[in-house]
Amino acid sequence: NRKIVLRNYVTGFPKESDMELVAAGGAAPSRVPEGTDGAVLVKNLYLSCDPYMRGRMSKSDGSSYVHGFVVAEPITGYGVGKVVDSRHPGFKAGDYVWGMTGWEEYSLIKDPTGLFTIRHPELPLSYYTGLLGMAGLTAYYGFHEICAPKEGERVFVSAASGAVGQLVGQFAKLMGCYVVGSAGSDDKVTLLKEKFGFDEAFNYKKEKDLNLALKRCFPEGIDVYFENVGGAMLDAVLLNMRVRGRVAACGMISQYNLDRPDPIHNLTAIITKRLRIEGFIVSDHYDKYREYEEKVARYVKEGKIAYVEDVTEGLENAPAALIGLFSGRNVGKQVVVVAKE
Ligand code: NDP
Repeated sequence: NRKIVLRNYVTGFPKESDMELVAAGGAAPSRVPEGTDGAVLVKNLYLSCDPYMRGRMSKSDGSSYVHGFVVAEPITGYGVGKVVDSRHPGFKAGDYVWGMTGWEEYSLIKDPTGLFTIRHPELPLSYYTGLLGMAGLTAYYGFHEICAPKEGERVFVSAASGAVGQLVGQFAKLMGCYVVGSAGSDDKVTLLKEKFGFDEAFNYKKEKDLNLALKRCFPEGIDVYFENVGGAMLDAVLLNMRVRGRVAACGMISQYNLDRPDPIHNLTAIITKRLRIEGFIVSDHYDKYREYEEKVARYVKEGKIAYVEDVTEGLENAPAALIGLFSGRNVGKQVVVVAKE
């Protein structure tokens, strides 16, 4: 059972060498051990690389909403697997599931109550690491519930080509909004416009002045901002929001590796423009998941949603894939293939 373990706690930008592959000998496990009633044994197929995992690499002070990783223990995160053996009445061998698992070939999950069985195994199983899993519900819930959008409104999405961003943009287009995205390369900008149907997009790394870039794309201002990056982008957006605009604070990836967060200068715009800025954590809303799964599985079958994944082959390459999120190496949802079946 090969696994990726955390080697040391991380400060600043994470490196591949902060994690290492450990190979334990012996045959692949095939049974939930005696005395572990309630557990399931899962063969991991696809692992999800997610920005929030960076927070779990820091030495925990107990303040985060997720507990930290433990040095020398496997990294844990969302993934898709196949149940090999079950001592839990809710799961049986052969079920495909998604949820929290280990960065290893097989995981013994002692409390599987957080796992979801996959109801559409006819769709690519890897989609359950993103579009049909955590990132997808994040985009859907964050956009529809937190942003309270109306048809025709002007929507801005940052980190727009990523797992969450590409879906927010498309959900906004399905609602009849005008949608602009920012991303970190010209190829990503092309993807936004040509594959995901954004009305406009810009490469934030090439813009000298983000305020001017936003004014160019939104001459009448922004009604809804789906925030994925924070920092200078948030500051520029505040200057360009319309009165009674809404901001869904989903993530601030530009801040996750900084010792000291960037200052935000334009907070008074919240008052003068009567803005509503609301943070949310998707795992508080998993009661909405089944409804989401059915709706979006149907969208995929009807061709209403396009979806781009960045697929890395091999558990051994998972650390590089994870740290690549922080330099924008990924194009679309970052997935790691551990095994195909
Ligand atoms: P992505 O697939 O978008 O990958 C991360 C992307 O962020 C990179 O590809 C890169 O794209 C961009 N990025 C990296 N560093 C910076 C930086 N310094 N400034 C600007 N952009 C940067 O990730 P996800 O879609 O999975 O996540 C998007 C956001 O949503 C994250 O902030 C994440 O933490 C948050 N999130 C929040 C959840 C919640 O429950 N609140 C749940 C899931 C995600 P580029 O090339 O464009 O720079």
